[in-house]
Amino acid sequence: MLSIKNLHASIEGKEILKGINLEVKPGEVHAIMGPNGSGKSTLASVLAGREDYEVDSGEISFNGKDLLELEADERAQEGVFLAFQYPIEIPGVTTTNFMKTALNKIREHKGLEPLDAVSFLSLMKEKMKLVEIDQSLLSRSLNEGFSGGEKKRNEIFQMAMLEPTLSILDETDSGLDIDALRIVANGVNKLKSDDNATIVVTHYQRLLDYIVPDFVHVLFNGKIVKTGGKELALQLEEKGYDWIKEEAGVA
Ligand code: ADP
Ligand code: MG
Ligand code: MG
Repeated sequence: MLSIKNLHASIEGKEILKGINLEVKPGEVHAIMGPNGSGKSTLASVLAGREDYEVDSGEISFNGKDLLELEADERAQEGVFLAFQYPIEIPGVTTTNFMKTALNKIREHKGLEPLDAVSFLSLMKEKMKLVEIDQSLLSRSLNEGFSGGEKKRNEIFQMAMLEPTLSILDETDSGLDIDALRIVANGVNKLKSDDNATIVVTHYQRLLDYIVPDFVHVLFNGKIVKTGGKELALQLEEKGYDWIKEEAGVA
């Protein structure tokens, strides 16, 4: 599904990603871990096509397409979804209306008719139930005055509605409280299928108590220096990152 080859990327002339290689197949959950400043959010942002990030070399292909050729909104239409790092507030636009627009854009891209009001409402209801979100949240302006937990819930709701092929979740360093963790994890676990994949970016191990990854990659100084299974996350929790730096010869 996703193939990253020797990706180098920089921000404001400073090289951050220094040769990333990553293969993600349908049905897989990958965790990207690593110390602060190692480039985790940069990788997520580059995948989503955020401006400000310069790709210097390397390749990213997504379902056979050259992702780097696509703008951020085109990537979203292709089924790439980036959550959490910068939850935007849009005054005057309700979540419901935002969702209607986003969903119909994706449908248009797939050559489908926009959903009629009745179908849209029933889809909303179905997904609201799935992620246990309250109706009242959806009629408020997007993210405006939302608590941290409400923002997370809302993001997971958006994910449920859009059914992305590749979801990238970037846990901010400020961290999630235990309720938000559960919301995120339940949502991800319920939405998981053989046809989609998830990349969970996290500084801490605790999210992985709830979302069990198939692979854990440790990013250090812009490179993946170690890859393992879910047990690697537990080792990191226990022993920190220093032993990996030593093992990788980058200490
Ligand atoms: P992580 O998510 O692993 O903590 P980031 O990808 O956020 O790491 O950051 C990697 C490096 O890029 C850090 O050294 C950070 O200071 C730098 N960086 C991130 N964003 C910017 C920016 N907007 N301008 C300059 N440097 C940045
Ligand atoms: Mg950081
Ligand atoms: Mg980060």
